[in-house]
Amino acid sequence: MSRFDGKVGLITGAASGIGKEIAIRFAAEGGIPIIADLNLETATATAEEIRATGADAFAVAMNVTDEAQVEKGTDDVIAKYGKIDILVSNAGIQIVKPLVDFPFADWKKLLSIHLDGAFLTTRACLKHMYAANYGRVVYMGSVHSKEASKLKAPYVTAKHGLIGLAKVLAKEGAEHNVTANVVCPGFVRTPLVDKQIPEQAEALGITEDEVIKNVMLKDTVDGQFTTIDDVADAVLFFAGAKNNALTGQSLVVSHGWFMQ
Ligand code: NAD
Repeated sequence: MSRFDGKVGLITGAASGIGKEIAIRFAAEGGIPIIADLNLETATATAEEIRATGADAFAVAMNVTDEAQVEKGTDDVIAKYGKIDILVSNAGIQIVKPLVDFPFADWKKLLSIHLDGAFLTTRACLKHMYAANYGRVVYMGSVHSKEASKLKAPYVTAKHGLIGLAKVLAKEGAEHNVTANVVCPGFVRTPLVDKQIPEQAEALGITEDEVIKNVMLKDTVDGQFTTIDDVADAVLFFAGAKNNALTGQSLVVSHGWFMQ
């Protein structure tokens, strides 16, 4: 028996980076990952890559800020598999700009993807989890759920907010055997971070190497990036929680950048 045999896990933002690795690792341990992402082609390509290993996987088009798409995507999963055991709310973006002239539209866009997306996907999955008396919800937080950095006002605000959402769900979900936890990675080399390096260099007036060394990895214990594999380990740990003993928690995976 593998840890996630027959479990159905909806993973948002699973066509790229951290979400994709979580889907691959979940499938390798017997789970059926639902690859939910903006673009059906890239989601389907990821699902096909996983199916090529002999595992099952299913792709759904889901903009997590769109209530109708979230409801339809989860309905499609229920129609196919009859349940959703695990939700990994992972879809996210980054926009870096100084607070003093942060465009309101960018503020709202970022908060919507991280917070509305977490809320809408949670609500859509919860009714099925409550009916089944089982659910494991994992939110993708960040060291920025605990710590601030310059230029990241909405991101830091949203990532702190996810901890509040997880704590409420931990309390409300307990009687239905639904747990909620947050994984908080340090910097991971994904498209989201690769895009930020030149942007931060320009905003801070330093080189890209200096952004990596003196901004991103400055406070780690070993100058190393966190890997997608490190993050998947922590997510699957929470996704496999046996009971409510492990709920309402947040776990930082950051090479010691942030210590509790
Ligand atoms: P990524 O850019 O590689 O992947 C993000 C995925 O989310 C993409 O596939 C994208 O299409 C999808 N997405 C974006 N907006 C969406 C929407 N509205 N609806 C559905 N899907 C959408 O980024 P990543 O680094 O893998 O980030 C994944 C999560 O990890 C994010 O929540 C991010 O904030 C968090 N995180 C990343 C890092 C890091 O250093 N990379 C660190 C801490 C936390």
